Amino acid sequence: MQDFSAKDWADRAASLTIEGRAFIDGAYINALSGNTRPTLNPATGEVLVAVASCGPEDADRAIASAKAVFEAGTWANQAPSERKKVLVRWAELVEAHAEELALLECLDVGKPISDTLNVDVPAAARTLRWSGEAIDKVYDQVAPTPHDTLALVTRLPLGVVAAIVPWNFPFSTTAWKIAPAIATGNSVILKPASNTPLTAIKLAGLAKQAGLPDGVLQVLPGPGGSLGSHLAKHMDVEGLTFTGSTPVGKMLMEYSGQSNLKRTYLELGGKSPNIVFADANLDKAAAMAATAVFYNGGQTCTAGTRLLVQASIHDAFVAKVIEHAKSWLPGNPLDPATSMGPMVDEAQYNTVAEYVRIGCDEGATLAYGGKRVKVTDGGFYHEPTIFTGANNQMRIAQEEIFGPVMTVIPFETEAEAIAIANDSIFGLAGAVWSKDINVAHRVAKAVRVGTMGINNYFGGDMTVPFGGFKQSGNGRDKSMHAFDDYTELKTTWIEFD
Ligand code: NAP
Repeated sequence: MQDFSAKDWADRAASLTIEGRAFIDGAYINALSGNTRPTLNPATGEVLVAVASCGPEDADRAIASAKAVFEAGTWANQAPSERKKVLVRWAELVEAHAEELALLECLDVGKPISDTLNVDVPAAARTLRWSGEAIDKVYDQVAPTPHDTLALVTRLPLGVVAAIVPWNFPFSTTAWKIAPAIATGNSVILKPASNTPLTAIKLAGLAKQAGLPDGVLQVLPGPGGSLGSHLAKHMDVEGLTFTGSTPVGKMLMEYSGQSNLKRTYLELGGKSPNIVFADANLDKAAAMAATAVFYNGGQTCTAGTRLLVQASIHDAFVAKVIEHAKSWLPGNPLDPATSMGPMVDEAQYNTVAEYVRIGCDEGATLAYGGKRVKVTDGGFYHEPTIFTGANNQMRIAQEEIFGPVMTVIPFETEAEAIAIANDSIFGLAGAVWSKDINVAHRVAKAVRVGTMGINNYFGGDMTVPFGGFKQSGNGRDKSMHAFDDYTELKTTWIEFD
């Protein structure tokens, strides 16, 4: 697979049989209404498959099945070591189907095949295996109570959990949600993003093959506005886990309050500061500054879209970053040499183009890029784009663009860098580059974000929690901390005669 050419991948894509039905109660089925929605290849605009478009009636059926299997204890009451076996088998099946899953994600999202094969699919398999391997190593607690009492503090699954995920990392965010939710014994209903449902649909069939009982994982593709909100307002859904935009996250909190106060955990948007001091390893920092924004076409919640550069090195550093930007020119996602694909769809492209116009109108300098490229290919490809001469009050510094657009802002002092970094409604991620450990640690501590890199960007693995401060959300994916989002704490107080 690693040696495949673009033609090899195109041949495989042509012979792929793509499942577009929902997965409800252990079987692939059409929506009750019979409605479908085409999912398109962002690189060509061609229809990949007609996907079931589920509505509230399908959700009600799935929730009833999820609730029944939860109450029967079919999965929730299995010993953790038994649940572990299923999750590990499931991870092995993902690995055995890596080529197909990588291809599906590439075709559906427009992500480069080298990324889906080497990053997204292995990350999902690792998440399933790690959560499975961890679950039989989690101990409950005995509280330090008086000698004639015994108090147990135990963790119990919530029940039916709805997971709603976005289109930018569909497979890995799906795994981040469902692996800890299922490992802890919940029944999960997953609603993928309407434009990228394919790997989630495939994953559900693999779960059944791995031995997950029917009703424990159901995948319902369908519109957020009707299906997603129905799940979020449903009285039998006890937990809601969401990755997506901040405006939708706010609505979900309201739906929780309007319904049953379901536990609602949100992973939302970002406008992350990447802070470079003059004494940093500037070659490494410049290469990573480009990667931090242009990876996945900037359609990354943690993208380091605000590049804060110490004024004394500003011009020379920006010149280095522009050199690296040139290696992120978008190309055919099926070509293993491609590092950046098209925008996910025309609407996302239009958003990016509109922000480029806004940046110019605000008086920032378009230092690199700014245009559509490969116009003849049918996809919406946008150049890597760099604005300089910007300040943090501009909309291109405050609003999430979700495209390959970097806003460079100069600073003089450490205090000024921290103030600019924290002047944002978001608090998802960031990084600081300096060889002075005092500066690096002071800044890393002071910037109010969930993940901060020192002399790296995008650092982290399954062992560490991932989530946001402020309007970037409240929950935590990955690590043992993810189990907290899917469990309630129960106290059992025992008195001896
Ligand atoms: P989005 O518009 O918020 O959509 C996310 C999901 O919510 C989709 O499945 C969508 O369904 C659904 N949805 C939309 N309206 C809904 C409603 N009223 N009720 C229930 N569900 C609803 O976000 P997106 O554009 O797909 O994704 C980009 C956003 O995700 C960015 O803001 C990005 O920063 C964020 N993100 C955050 C993280 C993180 O971990 N913090 C990771 C990745 C992405 P439809 O597809 O049918 O509209």
